[in-house]
Amino acid sequence: MSYVDEAIERVIRENPGEPEFHQAVKEVLESLRPVIEANEEKYKKDALLERLVNPERQIKFRVPWVDDNGNAQINTGYRVQFNSAIGPYKGGIRLHPSVNIGIIKFLGFEQIFKNSLTGLPIGGGKGGSDFNPKGKSDREVMAFCQSFMTELVKYIGPNADVPAGDIGTGAREIGYMFGQYKRIRGLFEGVLTGKGLSYGGSLARTEATGYGLLYITEEMLKSNGIDINGKTAIVSGSGNVAIYAIEKAHQLGAKVLTCSDSTGWVYDPDGIDVAALKEIKEVKRARLTEYKNYRPNSEYHEGKGVWQIKADIALPCATQNELSLEDAKALVANGVIAVAEGANMPTTEEATKYLQENGVYFVPGKAANAGGVATSALEMSQNSERVSWTLEKVDKKLQGIMVDIFHNIDDAAKRYGFEGNYVVGANIAGFEKVVNAMEAQGIV
Ligand code: NDP
Repeated sequence: MSYVDEAIERVIRENPGEPEFHQAVKEVLESLRPVIEANEEKYKKDALLERLVNPERQIKFRVPWVDDNGNAQINTGYRVQFNSAIGPYKGGIRLHPSVNIGIIKFLGFEQIFKNSLTGLPIGGGKGGSDFNPKGKSDREVMAFCQSFMTELVKYIGPNADVPAGDIGTGAREIGYMFGQYKRIRGLFEGVLTGKGLSYGGSLARTEATGYGLLYITEEMLKSNGIDINGKTAIVSGSGNVAIYAIEKAHQLGAKVLTCSDSTGWVYDPDGIDVAALKEIKEVKRARLTEYKNYRPNSEYHEGKGVWQIKADIALPCATQNELSLEDAKALVANGVIAVAEGANMPTTEEATKYLQENGVYFVPGKAANAGGVATSALEMSQNSERVSWTLEKVDKKLQGIMVDIFHNIDDAAKRYGFEGNYVVGANIAGFEKVVNAMEAQGIV
């Protein structure tokens, strides 16, 4: 059995009941096969793959808090510090009822390669809790965040581990967590990113993941001789990533026809109204059913359905495994040109394969949504320097980073004879730097 197959088998055996983690490891190691086979003896002797797929540290803790009725509630908190070969652990905190250790490990594993691709000195980590902020009062969210940070504070710091937002963790949650960190440690330091602008946040961080997704999509299309201007797009999700992806798509001259949330989706033939979406989701924290009040021409549908709409570009920006093989078939039948992942692993393995086999340009999340963490790293730099850069400066750097990521993954794919396969390219380019650093640092 090859070293890659051995490593995959061991991950499945030693991490039972964690299908998303198995899926992420399999996808990465399978595509690294040519690189690993070229160095198999050395890597095996150094147990390189075993070290790569085993987190350096996994922390699991109880999060007690009191609800508005005076009842105690308990959630579970996690932080997986996966790999610090190239810098302090960096990765978001997900607050969603579906969170478990397997989900956090899949996200932390992906984060290693994504962070490496940014070219910035950040290692991979991820955290979260099965707490559901939806429907909770601000006081309840604050109580949870303070309790969560009271435990997490023991393991993080600006040179150790710097968490950020993710699903369910936005500016409000980051603010409460930062406040509690400062209160316990007595230190005002850059320990979280995605902070508010009045206390160390970076301009353009809110927009970064969505904007970055469009910058890389534009560059990828351009290098294949296609202009994004005038194209139509379908987006899923209506959270942080989706909103700013839609905004930038419109700025680049593309028209976005859809968005969705966990209960339904919107089709707007005139193009999604971003101002309305922001008001519904960022201000009112309401459901998409409200969208029709702003745009009578639009349609609201319960359930799933955005991938059935005909468009040139598809941008999944909600959650993992939201684009299935069936959806991929509908996209191809409708003549889609490109799919770029705003969310982490939104496309199933079979769907990805189908899209690639049918000539669809496919950019995986670890490259396509890296703009968020890249700008987080820029926030860390600004905090260390005790300065704030202008919006133009951050946005320009973000754009440069996304363009560089595209060319790095494109080159890596070409070097190994997989021209146009950006999945393989992203995994190889991300892996090379991390492995280099791991090898240099000895068996640790
Ligand atoms: P948000 O919480 O702001 O938004 C998530 C969106 O996806 C919401 O519209 C939500 O609907 C929908 N959604 C969440 N879970 C499900 C589900 N199980 N089924 C259907 N819809 C769902 O999160 P973000 O926009 O920050 O994150 C979206 C994705 O992007 C995630 O995969 C995240 O890991 C990834 N990502 C985020 C980055 C960031 O900077 N924020 C950086 C890199 C990746 P509803 O409101 O109804 O819950």
